[in-house]
Amino acid sequence: MKTPLSILHSTFGYHEFRGPQAAVIDALVAGEDVLVLMPTGGGKSLCYQIPALVREGVGIVVSPLIALMQDQVSALRELGVRAGFLNSSLSAQEMWQTELALQRGELDMLYVAPERLIQPRTLELFHQIKISLFAIDEAHCVSQWGHDFRSDYLKLELLHREFPQVPRIALTATADVRTRDEIIARLQLENAQQFINGFDRPNIQYRIAQKNNPKIQLMRFLREEQAGNSGIVYCLSRNKVEQIAEWLSAEGFTALPYHAGLPAAVRQKNQERFLREDNIIMVATIAFGMGIDKPDVRFVAHLDLPKSIEAYYQETGRAGRDGEPATTLLLYGLEDVVKLRQMMAQSEGSEEFKRNEQQRLNAMLGLCEITSCRRQSLLRYFGDTLAQPCGNCDCCLTPPQTWDATEAVQMALSCVYRTGQRFGAGHVIDVLRGSNNEKILSFDHHKLTTYGIGKHLSADEWKAIFRQLVARGLLDVNVDGFGGLVLNESCRSYLRGEEKISLRRDIKTTVSTPRRANL
Ligand code: ADP
Ligand code: ZN
Repeated sequence: MKTPLSILHSTFGYHEFRGPQAAVIDALVAGEDVLVLMPTGGGKSLCYQIPALVREGVGIVVSPLIALMQDQVSALRELGVRAGFLNSSLSAQEMWQTELALQRGELDMLYVAPERLIQPRTLELFHQIKISLFAIDEAHCVSQWGHDFRSDYLKLELLHREFPQVPRIALTATADVRTRDEIIARLQLENAQQFINGFDRPNIQYRIAQKNNPKIQLMRFLREEQAGNSGIVYCLSRNKVEQIAEWLSAEGFTALPYHAGLPAAVRQKNQERFLREDNIIMVATIAFGMGIDKPDVRFVAHLDLPKSIEAYYQETGRAGRDGEPATTLLLYGLEDVVKLRQMMAQSEGSEEFKRNEQQRLNAMLGLCEITSCRRQSLLRYFGDTLAQPCGNCDCCLTPPQTWDATEAVQMALSCVYRTGQRFGAGHVIDVLRGSNNEKILSFDHHKLTTYGIGKHLSADEWKAIFRQLVARGLLDVNVDGFGGLVLNESCRSYLRGEEKISLRRDIKTTVSTPRRANL
């Protein structure tokens, strides 16, 4: 009998298995169900292609990407694998031929679109033949909360019922814990062995800094660390993309804008220049990046907070595909959180969808505020592990200091309460620091007991406190459009000073450049 390793050598021409491939293949060959989470390019295909060749019968691969099926099948045929596909692109004649080949046992592997698989005609055919395994590619398509939801994927649970003896493997590159749980539940993979691996990108340096003067922070980063390099600068809005691209161009960089509002021809041209030329900065919204494969992207900078860890991982992941050192820099501040919370609250979608989005944002905020290794935390989010702190993130390189903020937090929360839980951080900080501006006088806030009790800290220090309180969920942001801060239930023991709290001390980036930029 052929072994997985001999097939790896003889059919695919590779020397050794990569990461968890060998273990996944062994489990599947032994007839077990498997769930594989691996980033794009990790080598998921071999995980089912080899077992399909080892086990008796035809391996059925479910994939939503009809456009790619033909390519995959051609590539396999070139390697001498007897592969075919069934989807809506086939003529009746071609379909009939493929079905005949299946019945005659002339195929090792069949790629099939989900909508085709669930047709009674296809299922009937499958019951007549010997099936070695079912591979469900892009398994996150069963998740209703993701962006790739396909209702036909939900029906794939019938595989378990109709073919209980056939092992199944579900594969995906994008799965946080929640999506993973959904895949398991909807596809009945409770007994599947899970392989979660390969998410680490060791050549990428992760840095997350407080946004105090983003233009100057970005300029320094570009001039002092990235001179001559190509990279991507992500912004939240189209407007800001254009502003930043113009400003960088005026500063002597070759910076091109990219967002969905530009004419297709401009987008195309800018993208091509980015791929072909050196020393180009792409200033873009998240519309840019899908399917961009430029190996020597040396940096990815975010001027606004990504809305989830998945998004952050995917966007930063566009750096350093060539394996050479690459740097990512995220600048974030309280105003980002307020903006995103409001956008999410106002977006269309069910309450559950919105709650889910908020939770993802909270996880992203947690990553921003941690004081331990960012990479360990990032990988833990995907279920992957890293035994030691990485030594290649800002927290490892310059360990952040923490301080006992119990008293200051009590002051902050109490001031939010006294001012009626409807003002943003700026005003509350003014009250704490005893400013006598008009707004304070007009609301009589100079008469509050919390007025002026926080003079010992600077406005920036207070800002950092409020940011962290929001990030930790002790304060909520009112989504009425004004960004007022509201006490969360969970803050009670801190408000009373019953529980100690230590916060991260922001690393001071002193701004010496005279020209202040306002974003
Ligand atoms: P994914 O589906 O996870 O995005 P692929 O299965 O397309 O990844 O594999 C990505 C690339 O890595 C392919 O070019 C594939 O041939 C190659 N590859 C996969 N496994 C191995 C291996 N064990 N040794 C060498 N190359 C491999
Ligand atoms: Zn680290």
